Amino acid sequence: MRRVIVRRSSVHGKGVFAMHALAAGERVLEYKGEITSWRTAVRRHRREGVEGHTFLFGLSDGTVIDGSRGGNSARWLNHACAPNCETVEEEGRIFIHALRPVEPGEELFIEYLLATDDPLDEDIRAQYACRCATADCRQSMLAAAA
Ligand SMILES: [Zn+2]
Repeated sequence: MRRVIVRRSSVHGKGVFAMHALAAGERVLEYKGEITSWRTAVRRHRREGVEGHTFLFGLSDGTVIDGSRGGNSARWLNHACAPNCETVEEEGRIFIHALRPVEPGEELFIEYLLATDDPLDEDIRAQYACRCATADCRQSMLAAAA
């Protein structure tokens, strides 16, 4: 059963919205794409002039899933510092689970918490500024530096 639909978001670009009510803990979809290094992915997106940062999902081993290559609608998930979904890593794959009951039509959000061992320049940091504007907003989609 199709659970989500991609359409324009009031937060940023496109977003992913629930088509049906989702239960807390329900697996909603997988974050698909090519697994590559952070460095390769960033270089690729700069070369192509794509605002590609939102298509990258960091894995615990320091690689990233590049949703712009073979990705699915999960690449349109927007970040929020108080999200209604969480990401679960299982053997190098990422799944999106609902954190709480979600109403049909609600936009789904995850915390990106991107982590990388590579040094990030100011340009990249600026690209990852958070727009969620909630009271607990950390102003960045990046995980705290290791
Ligand atoms: Zn925020």
